[in-house]
Amino acid sequence: MPRKPVKPSLLVKAENRHLPPICRLPLTGGRACLDFVNTIDWRLAPDRFRDTLLEYADLLAFALRLKLIDAEEEARLSAEARADPEGAARALHRARDFRETCSSLIDTIAGRPGSPPGLAARSEDLAQFGGARRQARSSERLCWEEGRLVSRPQVELEGLDRPWLCLVRDAEDLLFSALASRIRVCAAEGCGWAYLDTSKNGSRRWCSMRLCGNREKAKRFKTK
Ligand SMILES: [Zn+2]
Repeated sequence: MPRKPVKPSLLVKAENRHLPPICRLPLTGGRACLDFVNTIDWRLAPDRFRDTLLEYADLLAFALRLKLIDAEEEARLSAEARADPEGAARALHRARDFRETCSSLIDTIAGRPGSPPGLAARSEDLAQFGGARRQARSSERLCWEEGRLVSRPQVELEGLDRPWLCLVRDAEDLLFSALASRIRVCAAEGCGWAYLDTSKNGSRRWCSMRLCGNREKAKRFKTK
């Protein structure tokens, strides 16, 4: 099921400063699964690298922010995580593993800056993505809605894995579609953020003009 693209929100408003870092990251990916990969900030710059997905609460906050779950579901999963911290830690681990599988597949599809073109996807990424897909499918039930067949997750079966399984479905929608050819990785040195290039001629180079675009332009201006 295609989801609406997420509007970029670039500035951190003063009233949002108390939020966890994962809720203060700009959303520039254009798709939930790409913003999920981008929860590692400066992925390709070892001196600036910052992971904002550290606790199960971060995963919930991110899923709520992207409207993958609603406030009621967030409260229920939060209580479930408090009652079963080990289960929450395992779900977080699976979410982080899925994020890295997605990131690696995106590397292959879009090509990180400087990597050779035309590489094939790694078999371990394909196997892991397949495993995540199977887990997402296992909780789905076929329904008949408005004259057509649809597949709906049974939320109660997904438990603490619910937030990242929503991201598996978003990634599947995107990676299996023609839009996959529009996935890019920011050309700015060290950034590593992924985004969907929806520009007319498909020539967008930066995760965001206001972030990397302006900085890279200023850099070039200085070295001239
Ligand atoms: Zn960037």
